[in-house]
Amino acid sequence: MRFTTLDGLRRWLDKLAEEVDLVAPTDVDGHVLYRPVTGSDQILFDYERPELSAKDFLLPATEVLLRIEQKGKEVALEEVLPDRKQVLFGIRPCDAHGIAVIDALFLEQDPPDRYYRHHRERTVLVGMACTRMWDGCFCTSMGGGPTDATHLDVLIRPGEEGYFLQPVTPKGVAILEGLPVEEPKGEPLPVEEYNEPVPVVPPEKWRPLFNDRIWMRHGERCLSCRICTYVCPTCRCFDVTDRVVDVQPGLTRIERIRVWDACTSPNYRRVAGGHNPRPTKPDRLRNRFYCKFCYYPEDFGPLGCVGCGRCIVACPVDIDITEVMQVVAKRA
Ligand code: SF4
Ligand code: SF4
Repeated sequence: MRFTTLDGLRRWLDKLAEEVDLVAPTDVDGHVLYRPVTGSDQILFDYERPELSAKDFLLPATEVLLRIEQKGKEVALEEVLPDRKQVLFGIRPCDAHGIAVIDALFLEQDPPDRYYRHHRERTVLVGMACTRMWDGCFCTSMGGGPTDATHLDVLIRPGEEGYFLQPVTPKGVAILEGLPVEEPKGEPLPVEEYNEPVPVVPPEKWRPLFNDRIWMRHGERCLSCRICTYVCPTCRCFDVTDRVVDVQPGLTRIERIRVWDACTSPNYRRVAGGHNPRPTKPDRLRNRFYCKFCYYPEDFGPLGCVGCGRCIVACPVDIDITEVMQVVAKRA
């Protein structure tokens, strides 16, 4: 465990910002969001759970995979793989847990996803423990917790007089070289407030509820707005498409892009000819929950939810995943 003051942390971060792509929690017009920063003066050190997860920096909402240039009969392909190291500073333990959930699909299958693996290898996760659970959080029910270091390279715990930094992995040890350290003063701040636990039902108990009326009750008011997917640290569905960026006589430039997709979207499962095997909102909302608690754990291991609570806060019609979990637990 290492100890440093806020000033020491700032000096270390200012140096890091010169050497790597540094991402950190920032205030964007009153919203706490992870954003690229060029200095510690842009970083929040006392902040709530950011409104969006950190997955955008490993699986970008829109990512250029290839640049394609056609000149006459010649076609040139250029793969787009950023080569700078990236440090995600101040991510919450639930966001690191969310990245571990995505790893199960993108890294741990054969073959791994080439682009995701590249981002993962160039990235160091420096987390900041929470000192309380925020609105809607239920991370402790999903195997995590406000001070959980499991999926991080470094865990930072705020103290009364500075910060306690715990390297967790060799990457974490390496990134802390250069941190100005001092003799520890005081103790890490305790977690002030825990939220009520939520029951988690194993995948096999979800199967008999596939035709339950609960899906109609919640699904009929869903707006198919997809916000729940976009704020979620574990949702990882994507589409790949080509966009034309430049056309001149004898020359065409195209970008092949990967973009986030969402199973709550009406178009998600529509196939050629117009058939849609999930034509209604209840069908689609049910899939969102079954993916998280039944299909994903059965196919890839981890549950597809880390209990960050963002979808509960963000849903414009108050569809609450913990309410669904409670009902399923009662009926299972
Ligand atoms: S489903 Fe909701 S609570 Fe669970 S990880 Fe995603 S956004 Fe967070
Ligand atoms: S945020 Fe709410 S309304 Fe929007 S798609 Fe998700 S469940 Fe439906």
